[in-house]
Amino acid sequence: MIVLSGLNLNGIEKITDVLKASKFRARQIHNWIYLKSVKTIDEMTDLSVKFREELKKIAVVTDTKIKVKQESSDGTLKYLLEYPDGECVETVLMRFDNRANLTACVSSQVGCAVNCSFCATGKRGFIRNLTYKEIIEQVLTIQRDTGLKVTNVVFMGQGEPLLNLDNVLMAMKIFNENFQIGARRITISTSGIIPGIEKLASVDMQSTLALSLHAPNHEIRKKLMQIENKYPMSELKKALKDYIAKTGRRITIEYLLIKDLNDTLESVKELVAYLHDLKCNINLIPYNSTEKNDYQKPSGNSIMRFKSLLEQSGKKVTVRLERGSDIDAACGQLRGKVDV
Ligand code: SAH
Ligand code: SF4
Repeated sequence: MIVLSGLNLNGIEKITDVLKASKFRARQIHNWIYLKSVKTIDEMTDLSVKFREELKKIAVVTDTKIKVKQESSDGTLKYLLEYPDGECVETVLMRFDNRANLTACVSSQVGCAVNCSFCATGKRGFIRNLTYKEIIEQVLTIQRDTGLKVTNVVFMGQGEPLLNLDNVLMAMKIFNENFQIGARRITISTSGIIPGIEKLASVDMQSTLALSLHAPNHEIRKKLMQIENKYPMSELKKALKDYIAKTGRRITIEYLLIKDLNDTLESVKELVAYLHDLKCNINLIPYNSTEKNDYQKPSGNSIMRFKSLLEQSGKKVTVRLERGSDIDAACGQLRGKVDV
């Protein structure tokens, strides 16, 4: 069976050619898939019943199942999706107060090889890359299930997007061209894979790059993220400066705040020094608890103190709102499995 989701217009035209239908039918199917987000071919009501029957013999809309769906008290939705080979990933829809803004947090891999000490995803190890079709299927599933149109995509679910860059770039192109999601509304978050950052710098995409820095110096970053041994902060800085110079775009620095570990006065000073010549905004992420480590979230006061000291350096600083933590949908809590 051919899976229609993920095909571009050319791909759909190949099917309509086989069925000896006009190219206009392909355009209609394309709209049903990407803009109206139907679940079945039967819902494509501007196609004749006869044509739908023929199409159903060779194609289905999707082969991905919703295994579990949870809704947080703040409206965040978390889906556990199952692909045909039985592997599962999570995808999250965040609805902010401004309802016009619907952000899908998508996964790029099953598991993650980077294994940061604070993250639940890394604890599973790396299982496999997702194909670009599997990545976009996450957004389609959300649209089909809610009847809403996703407006923003962040690659902040499971996995390291820059270790699956070809599929991520292809998915971004499809989000852009088929879903009409502007590249500026797409953010890729990375733990700092330098070759991936270099490649992104050379691709002409208007998307936002977010770097998970999380530490003010090499010693602390090494404790939190093993990847610091391979791609240390000093090298990262060069890659980021080069990215900014080539693309002209401001990057986002993500900084996880962990009590007494990287939220001290000393840390702010070092962080300001590290960032002083980088064109960036800073997004502070208070640590969300996961099993198997003793890290703690700082108090509200200490988060605010850190923020205002950082702001004195002239940078724009935001604190990430915690979304969906009651259903383990917040940053770092995605494990890609069901509790049994
Ligand atoms: N692999 C990519 C993208 C996925 S993680 C990356 O690491 O950037 C998305 C963000 O959630 C990253 O900034 C990550 O460091 C952060 N995160 C991971 N575990 C977390 C936790 N327990 N609490 C808060 N944020 C966490
Ligand atoms: Fe992988 Fe990102 Fe989690 Fe680190 S924080 S283990 S890179 S998903």
